[in-house]
Amino acid sequence: MRLLHKIYNELLFNEDKALPMRKIPIGISSCLIGHPVRYDGSHKSNTTIIGTLGHYFEFHPFCPEVGIGLGIPRTPIHLVNKNNDIRCIDTENPEKDLTDSLRNYAFQQKQLHQNLFGYILKNDSPSCGMEKVKVYENSTPHRKGTGIYAKEMMRITPLLPVENEGRLDDPLLRGNFIQRVHVLYRWKKMLLEELSINCLIQFHNRYKHIISHGDYRELRQMLTTIDQKNIEQTAAQYILQLMMILKNANQPNTSAFFKEIPC
Ligand code: SF4
Repeated sequence: MRLLHKIYNELLFNEDKALPMRKIPIGISSCLIGHPVRYDGSHKSNTTIIGTLGHYFEFHPFCPEVGIGLGIPRTPIHLVNKNNDIRCIDTENPEKDLTDSLRNYAFQQKQLHQNLFGYILKNDSPSCGMEKVKVYENSTPHRKGTGIYAKEMMRITPLLPVENEGRLDDPLLRGNFIQRVHVLYRWKKMLLEELSINCLIQFHNRYKHIISHGDYRELRQMLTTIDQKNIEQTAAQYILQLMMILKNANQPNTSAFFKEIPC
């Protein structure tokens, strides 16, 4: 906890020591913070998330199944492969297909999601699961699916750092998630203040320590072609690629947190 706190102090106080520490808003599956919204009326309160990340993040809960009007309690749903089309089906009524409703709900939340800086999803859920969710093929489950709502949410907001609750038990993956949230937070803050060639180059220099030399050079190359006409398009490509690189790194470069950051 002390290490995490130190990282956060670096992240949030570095630019202006006078700023009060503020929590960064992130989305979360409602059941993980104790809301009794699961199909059987229970919750899956996650003490690691609430007890550690809750000190630094402001949680914005979403329950897509309740959001589309399913009751509590309700019949469980699951993913079924129908001719290579993954559908979300009621386990007791195979005629009841909730796929489109869950996708539409993710689309309806787009505006709210765009104001977030990260999202933590519940494991194994046919709605919220990020990966390895059971998909039934001829009544046999295969762990290769993504929850319908989660998949649509990630497609609509590709910049958003997303993590699965189970993976956050791993300190390296947790650090990686925190780092990605922080980078997106700083990016949006920069956009709100000013988008200029100089700001972009300063932003890039700030984060050169958290990516490999090869990735740093590739992104730097992208910025050398920038001018006032293409600045918005280049900036969008730049941040998409940087967030992808950080996601694939799967661990934080903690040495970067404690370096003196130029600005
Ligand atoms: S839909 Fe998501 S938030 Fe709602 S109970 Fe299931 S996993 Fe939790």
